[in-house]
This record gives sequence, structure tokens and C-alpha cells, in this order.
Amino acid sequence: MTDRSVEKLRKTRDLSDDELRELIETSSHDEALRTAADEVRRENYGDMVYLRGLIEISSYCKRNCLYCGLRAENRNAERYRLSKEEILSCCEEGYGLGYRTFVLQGGEDSYYTDEMICDIVRSIKENYPDCAVTLSIGEKSRESYEKYYEAGADRYLLRHETADPAHYGKLHPANMSSENRKRCLFDLKEIGYQVGAGFMVGSPYQTTENLIADLRFLQELQPDMIGIGPYISHQDTPFRNEKNGTAELTLRMLSILRLMFPYALLPSTTALGTIRPDGRELGLKAGGNVVMPNLSPVQVRKKYAIYDNKICTGEESAQCRGCLERRIESAGYRAVTDRGDVKRS
Ligand code: SAH
Repeated sequence: MTDRSVEKLRKTRDLSDDELRELIETSSHDEALRTAADEVRRENYGDMVYLRGLIEISSYCKRNCLYCGLRAENRNAERYRLSKEEILSCCEEGYGLGYRTFVLQGGEDSYYTDEMICDIVRSIKENYPDCAVTLSIGEKSRESYEKYYEAGADRYLLRHETADPAHYGKLHPANMSSENRKRCLFDLKEIGYQVGAGFMVGSPYQTTENLIADLRFLQELQPDMIGIGPYISHQDTPFRNEKNGTAELTLRMLSILRLMFPYALLPSTTALGTIRPDGRELGLKAGGNVVMPNLSPVQVRKKYAIYDNKICTGEESAQCRGCLERRIESAGYRAVTDRGDVKRS
């Protein structure tokens, strides 16, 4: 059975707003979307799934994003930060497990000066010159981003969260803006980073029009990576009573992204695995080609609680590696240990 809008999306990598609205709001295209997305991912990346070792370096954060458990005003959050030595020992373990990308993610923690971040990045690149270093430490000045890049950082993840300024305003305090977040993303791209943007699916107040705006913004930015996952509420945030996003809509959006951005690196996220036990496998089948196993020291993992019931907080890194490899194979793909740079045609 051919599905006209799915075929058109696949061929032209674009659709009108009306056509997108129809795809996003109805389940009748899901089968066609998933099949087409998997074909396109195989044309571009074969059956390869890239592994990124995720090191959650700090649970301190000066921001107050209304959805996030690490927000500064959450007095119940347990805070920790990793030293340079601890981060390097995570890398050592990760290297042994075959990871060739390390992602340093954290709250916006002013304890780490630019000099400290540069020193950490430099040390990782010195010890592991065949590895890529990805930073995901929030909104900084262009000068800071330039320094990290000079120090050897290859990639930067900064989800735009929502492209619509009014919706952004409902998810963030008044001292944050979607304008600045987008400015950061364009700066990062100009500097030369491989850049990852992305958004939560089913975040409070999100409409179909917001999701369409997210797709339009991504068309403008043309990022190398796009990270999406369902919104999951956290008990100690103002959004504690808000509904979670669904796996169904997240998977649909993943397939649409694969068809619009055939070359993109699309993670099948931990949040997707949290709302559904087989979520990450389904994410790969819907067009995802990246997974980000947790490499953080086990004793801090539960403290990096951006949402409730986060999975993969109990196991040792080696166990995560084995578990994910089995999941990837059961979904019909192959975990590869290489840097996994974006393949732009
Ligand atoms: N401080 C960094 C890292 C944030 S954590 C930054 O600003 O980029 C990484 C991502 O987790 C966020 O970009 C957000 O999209 C997601 N996230 C935060 N809280 C969440 C929640 N309650 N449910 C689902 N995803 C969430």
C-alpha cells in the first residue's frame, strides 16, 4: 500500500503544514512512516547503531526550567559534580568498552570555569585522540564555545526544546528565551561544531503547530544530530501534575525526522525507554541510529534525575553496554564502535 504524503515526504524531504498536521495527528500513516523511515536509515547508515558514552558531570544547575528535576529551586535534588579525574576514569572505562564518543552533559554549573572545561576536553583528546568529545552543558557565550572548540571539542548538544517563543516562555522562567537558545545553536554551527538540537514530545502546552514549528526550525538550522524524547514529569517541579508525552507520538516524530533529515544522527533516547520497556528498540526501528549508554559512576546516577523513574541508574557501565547491545541486535541492527560522524551527502 502506498501512502501519498509519506512518499512525498520521502522524495522531497518536505511537506506543507497541512500535510504535516495530518501525519502528526493521525495514526493511520504510522506503518507507512516506520517502513519508509527504516528504509531511508538503511540507505544512509545501513544497520549501524552508534554508541555514545554519556557522562553526567554535574547535577548542579543555575537555571529553573519548569520541567526539569535539576532546576535550581528544587531543594530536594541531590547535587554532585565530578572532578576531572573522575571524568577521565569514566572515559578510560568507556574506551575499554569500545566507545569512541564521550558526551559530557550536565546542569549549568558555574563551578566549572571555561578553563576547567577546556582542560578536561584537552586531557580527553590527549589520552584518546581517536575519540570525539561532545559537550552538552547549556547556554554559553560565543567566546566560551570558541574556547571549548579550540580545546578540541567536536560536537555540542543543545536541544532547542521548542521553537515557538510563546511556548518556550511557558516552559522556562522569564530570564531565558528561545531567541538566545537559537543564537547559541547558530553560533555553535558557525564555529564548526557538529551540532545537535531537539525537543521534548508532549511537553506541557505543546500543540501540533508547535511541533510543526520545531520541524521548520530544524530545516533552517540543518543540525547534524536531533535528539527527541517524551516529556516525563518530575515530582519536584511545578509541572508535577502534567501528563507525560507518549511513545506513539515520539516514534511518529522520529520517523518524520528521518524522512526530512536522511543524514541525521537520531538517538533512541533513555526517556523513550523509560516510558516503555521496549521504547529504545522501537525508536531504532522508527529511524533512530544512535544510543547513549550511561557511563556515569554508579553512585551518582540516581542523582542526575531530570525526570522521574529514569532507567539505567543501577547497573555498572559494562552491564549497560551488554544490555544495549542485545537490545540493538534484537531490533535487527548492529552496534558499532567508531566515532560515528554524520554522513552528509
Ligand atoms: N543543561 C543541559 C543539559 C540538559 S538535560 C542543556 O541545557 O542542554 C538534556 C535534556 O533533557 C534537555 O535538553 C531536555 O530536553 C531533557 N529533559 C529535561 N527535563 C526533562 C523531562 N522532565 N522530561 C523529558 N526530558 C527532559
